[in-house]
Amino acid sequence: MTAKALIIVDVQNDFCEGGALAVGGGAGVAAAISEHVASTSYDHVVATRDYHVDPGGHFSDEPDFVRSWPRHCVAGTAGAAFHPDLDVVPVEAVFSKGQYSDGYSGFDGSTGEESLHDWLTERGVTEVDVVGIATDHCVRATALDAAERGLRTDVRLDLTAGVARRTVDTALDDLANAGITLLGTPVVRT
Ligand SMILES: [Zn+2]
Repeated sequence: MTAKALIIVDVQNDFCEGGALAVGGGAGVAAAISEHVASTSYDHVVATRDYHVDPGGHFSDEPDFVRSWPRHCVAGTAGAAFHPDLDVVPVEAVFSKGQYSDGYSGFDGSTGEESLHDWLTERGVTEVDVVGIATDHCVRATALDAAERGLRTDVRLDLTAGVARRTVDTALDDLANAGITLLGTPVVRT
């Protein structure tokens, strides 16, 4: 049994226009992912979410926007909810991460009962497409972890939005060096 899954990374209100840590183009990516899912047959579709309770130095009043950030995606707030333009009906499972850590990778996430890796393994998933926000942080970390776990990994960059050109360029190098296939170009507005 082999199966292919789509992993939708952190398409949450705080990462889209008007949010606490808005990434330019985030809302457009939410809508584009919904269209992509409607027109593509994946065996499974899952989503990750940043879901912070007390993530330590991940939050800062003087963030550097590389390793420390303004408060965002606090568990239970509207900012942590999925963007309304993301159709969540096809999403079979949601993996929350970052409760007490940075939580950049979706593979740090859990449904509360099961990790992302265990969930995919149980369903025979050997191949994943990774999309979402932000290209240079959580998409990067999630895709690198997928490849490291032996999953054939593609990142559909046209369905990602990045924080900054410099870190996006570094991320693309890291992903390519890990043998990950990069399709399209990411939205980078800053
Ligand atoms: Zn975070």
